[in-house]
Amino acid sequence: MGASQESRKAAEGLDNKENRENHTSLLKVENLSKSFGTRRMFGQGELIDAVKDVSFELQEGRTLSLVGESGSGKSTIGRMVASLIEPTSGRIAFEGDDLSLLDGAARRALRRRIQMVFQDPYSSLNPRHTVGEIVGSGLAIQKIGPPAGRQAEIIEILERVGLDPAHHNRYPREFSGGQRQRIGIARALIMQPKLLICDEPVSALDVSVQAQIVNLLIELQKQYNLAYLFIAHDLAVVRHISDFVAVICRGRLVEIGPVDEILKTPSHPYTKSLLAAVPIPDPRKARARRKVILKGDAKPSLAVRGCPFAPRCPIVEPVCRETVPPTVSVGTNHRTSCHFPDKKLHPENEHPAA
Ligand code: ADP
Ligand code: MG
Repeated sequence: MGASQESRKAAEGLDNKENRENHTSLLKVENLSKSFGTRRMFGQGELIDAVKDVSFELQEGRTLSLVGESGSGKSTIGRMVASLIEPTSGRIAFEGDDLSLLDGAARRALRRRIQMVFQDPYSSLNPRHTVGEIVGSGLAIQKIGPPAGRQAEIIEILERVGLDPAHHNRYPREFSGGQRQRIGIARALIMQPKLLICDEPVSALDVSVQAQIVNLLIELQKQYNLAYLFIAHDLAVVRHISDFVAVICRGRLVEIGPVDEILKTPSHPYTKSLLAAVPIPDPRKARARRKVILKGDAKPSLAVRGCPFAPRCPIVEPVCRETVPPTVSVGTNHRTSCHFPDKKLHPENEHPAA
């Protein structure tokens, strides 16, 4: 971190002692909900609960992964935390400050500390801008530092993410998918975030490249004490990077816990089903793979009254369709929202303890 960056932080007053001591967690999300209106060709539109009553905390320098099927509301959570969209209800606190209560300047300063890395490194980079312009765009837009000093920062960051700084005058099309994702990471990193929201950052990449990007993110986390909200639609990719995993089903958080416990002793039938669907790369273990039991609609809808997984759950009981399950503790920092957390699935669908 350069001297200019340090003085910038001091000038913003973001790093004062009081601020550091006042928070136990970096990010605290409480009862976060978001509903969207759907347009109908004829008749009334309806509201869908894309995110409903989601609560979690994230500590400095740690990774919480959000997993769940496509359409379960993961990106919507990420976009609310990044202040790209407003929650319908609930609270997001960052370093102890309620995002919704901050005024313009404070909000902008804080938003700088929460950056996003997107899934698609092709569409998220402006093809008409050079890599240097793209990476420095946040500094330029927010008028951070003198323009002359920005170039040095851009070079430093490009090197840090494993790109050749001599290529700063090239255009995104001249880079591979993995390199483009490095550009996206550099663009976020140059803003000196405390929190990076990575929305499926490797989903569009080849498997071999995925590992390189995940490893880069792990290195950067150590170096800069970054926290990650890491969004992925399968559990295989989160194994290496996560400290905690939150499982999202139709907009609701159904289970959260330390990554090892979620993977080895999952509690919620939905988590077990997701695990059963994870392809095991080791061919010797391929036979242990269970048939995928996830059938039916993963999308949120108006009609969900009880547990979001009830329509597809193999151990469903009448109460599950009527009442949202209470959240119960099933281990240290491990909680689940299931009426029957101890009830076994049919052996065929149980996840073998890894
Ligand atoms: P995920 O990232 O888990 O795939 P999303 O958060 O993108 O899920 O979407 C959750 C639900 O919200 C989906 O049903 C999606 O269609 C809906 N949704 C997301 N954004 C909007 C929007 N801007 N307007 C209307 N519906 C939306
Ligand atoms: Mg998404």
